[in-house]
Amino acid sequence: MLQHARDLLREVYGYTDFRDAQEEVLAAALAGRDTLVVMPTGAGKSLCYQLPSIMRPGTGLVVSPLIALMQDQVGALRQLGVRAAFLNSTLAYDEQWRIIEAVRAGALDLLYLAPERLLQEDTLSLLAGVDLSLIAIDEAHCVSQWGHDFRQDYLGLDVLRDRFPGVPRMALTATADATTRDDILAKLAFDSGAKRFVSGFDRPNIRYTVRAKTDANAQLRAFLEERRGEAGIVYAMTRKKTESIAEMLNARGFTALPYHAGLPGDVRATSQGRFLREDGVIVVATIAFGMGIDKPDVRFVAHVDLPKSVEAYYQETGRSGRDGEPAEAWMVYGLQDVVRMRQMVDMSEADDQHKRIERGKLDALLGWCEVTTCRRRALLRHFGDDLPEDCGNCDVCLTPPETQDGTTAAQKLLSAIYRTGQRFGAGHVIDVLRGKDTEKIRQWGHERLSTYGIGADLSVTEWRSFVRQLMVQGFVRADDARFGALRLTADARAVLRGERTVRLRKDASVKPRVRTVSQREVFEVDPKDQDLWETLRQCRRDLAEEAGVPPYVIFHDATLKEMLHRRPVSLEEMLAIHGVGQAKLERYGAAFLDALHGEENPEPAGAPGSSSQGEIREELSWQDH
Ligand code: ADP
Ligand code: ZN
Repeated sequence: MLQHARDLLREVYGYTDFRDAQEEVLAAALAGRDTLVVMPTGAGKSLCYQLPSIMRPGTGLVVSPLIALMQDQVGALRQLGVRAAFLNSTLAYDEQWRIIEAVRAGALDLLYLAPERLLQEDTLSLLAGVDLSLIAIDEAHCVSQWGHDFRQDYLGLDVLRDRFPGVPRMALTATADATTRDDILAKLAFDSGAKRFVSGFDRPNIRYTVRAKTDANAQLRAFLEERRGEAGIVYAMTRKKTESIAEMLNARGFTALPYHAGLPGDVRATSQGRFLREDGVIVVATIAFGMGIDKPDVRFVAHVDLPKSVEAYYQETGRSGRDGEPAEAWMVYGLQDVVRMRQMVDMSEADDQHKRIERGKLDALLGWCEVTTCRRRALLRHFGDDLPEDCGNCDVCLTPPETQDGTTAAQKLLSAIYRTGQRFGAGHVIDVLRGKDTEKIRQWGHERLSTYGIGADLSVTEWRSFVRQLMVQGFVRADDARFGALRLTADARAVLRGERTVRLRKDASVKPRVRTVSQREVFEVDPKDQDLWETLRQCRRDLAEEAGVPPYVIFHDATLKEMLHRRPVSLEEMLAIHGVGQAKLERYGAAFLDALHGEENPEPAGAPGSSSQGEIREELSWQDH
C-alpha cells in the first residue's frame, strides 16, 4: 500500500520522498482511521489528504473555508492530472450541475466544499448516495473558539460522523496549541481513538534576521537589492507608510504594490492577483494582507516596523518559503518603535487586563529581538518546542553578537538619565553623554552635569542599542505619559551602586556586515546562467498565462533551478527532476527542453556536465529499487 503511495508521489507530484510525518498520516488514513494533523505552514498538509483520496475508492471531500484557496488548489491538482473540482456559489448553474453529475458518477478524486455548502441538506443527501474515500477538514482550528479564527459554520461539522459513518475523517491545521487541539476533536465529534500528528513549529528553511534600525528605507533597499526579481512581502505599520515605501521601491526599479484596508476592494484584488501570478512582485502591506495567501514561492517577509507579538510575527513570516526553499524573515526595529507600540497599547480602548496582556506580549517580542542566543531556539521555546541544538540559520548563529561587560556603560547611561531628571527621551540623554553642544542642552544647563561628555567614546547607534538592551533587561523604562521619557526602575539602583553587573551586546550593525551564503549556494543561480534562467522563467510565464494559472503552479523555482543545474536532454531525464511528474512532463516537458537547449544554448556532447548527470541518473534509478 505504502509502496503504491510512494509510486504515486513520484508519478503524480514528481517528488521522491515523503516529508516528516506525511507517510505516517497516510498510513493511518489508508487504514481508515480518524486523524488530527497539526503541521506548520508549508509542511505539506495537502498531500496528506490528497493521496489517500486518490488511492482509496470513492471521492475525497475537502472542507475549506476560503473560496480563493479552493480554486488555487483545484487548479494545481488539475495540472497534476488529478480529477478535482470545487462546488460553490461562484460557479454558474449549469457548471454546478456538471459537477454534481460527476460526483454521482464517481468521476472525481477530490471535491472541495465550503462548510456551509456541505451542510446544506441537498448536498448531504447527494453525498450520502455516493462512495466517499475520506473527509478532510482543512483549517480545522476554525471550529474552536480557542483558536484565532473561529467560524460559526464549522460548528455544524460534527454531523459528518453520523451522516457518513465509516468514512475516515482528517482534521488539519497549522496553528493549534494543546487546548485548541482537544477542542477541535471534541467539536468535530472525533472518537478518543483518533490519531494525532503534531509536528513542531520549526520552519528550518526560513532564516531569521533582526537588525537595529538606523535608516529603515536604506536598510530595506540594501536588503532588497540582493534579492532582485524575488517575490516578497514588506510589512509596515501605517497605510501611509506602505504607500511611500512602495513608491520608493518602484522608483528604484522594483515592482512594488501597496496594500492596506483603506484601498478599494478591486485595487486590492488586482494587487493580490498580480502578486500571485506575476514573478518577483513585492507587496508593501499592513497586516491587512496575508490571510489566505497560499503562494509557495514568497522568498522573504520584511518588517520595517515591529509586529504586535511573537505569535503575529511567526504567522506573518510563516508566509515565506512554503515551498521549502530558502527564505528570509528580516526585520529592523528601533527604540522609537518600542515607545510607539507602548503608547498605542496604553492609549487603546481596551480594559486594564487586556492592556497588561498586550504589554506582556510586546515585552516577549522585544526580549526575542534582543536575544544573544540562537534566535530560532528562542522562537520555538516561545511555542513550547525545544530545538536540541543551535540552528545555524539565524543571524545570531551566523554572526554571533559579541557581548561585553557593559556595567560601566550602563552606569554612565543610568546616571545621565537620573541627573537630567528622568524627563527626557533617549535622543537628549545621548547628546548629554556624548557632550554635544545643542540648544536644549544649554537651555537646561546640562553641560554642567558630571555626566556631560563622559560617553563621547561611543557612537549614537551604540548608545541607542544600549538603551534598548537596558530596557529589555528591565533597568530602564519609557514613561509613556511623558512621551517616552526614560525612567529608572528599582533594579537600576543596584547597577548604579555597583552591586550588579550588566552584559551588553555590541550591536551587529556596528560590525562589518558579513553575508553568508552557505545555505543558499546550492540553489543559487550561477551568474553565467542568468540568461538561461530568465529564459526558463519566461517559458514558465508563457505557459502559466496560457493555462490561466500562477507561474508556480507550472513549476516551482526549485524545479527550474534543478533544470538549470542538471540540463536534462531528454524527457526521461526531465522526469528525474524534483517536481516533474508524469502529467506535467507530458504537458510542459518539451517546452522546457526547448527553452534549455534553444539555438543559442546547444549542450556539446561530452561536456563536463554530462558525466555528473549520468551519476545522478544512476543514483535515482538505484533509489527506485
Ligand atoms: P501546507 O498546506 O502544510 O501549508 P502544502 O500542502 O501547501 O503545505 O505544501 C507546501 C509545498 O510543499 C507545496 O508546494 C507542496 O507541493 C510541497 N510538498 C509537499 N509534500 C512534499 C514532498 N513530500 N516533497 C516535496 N515537496 C512537497
Ligand atoms: Zn540559530
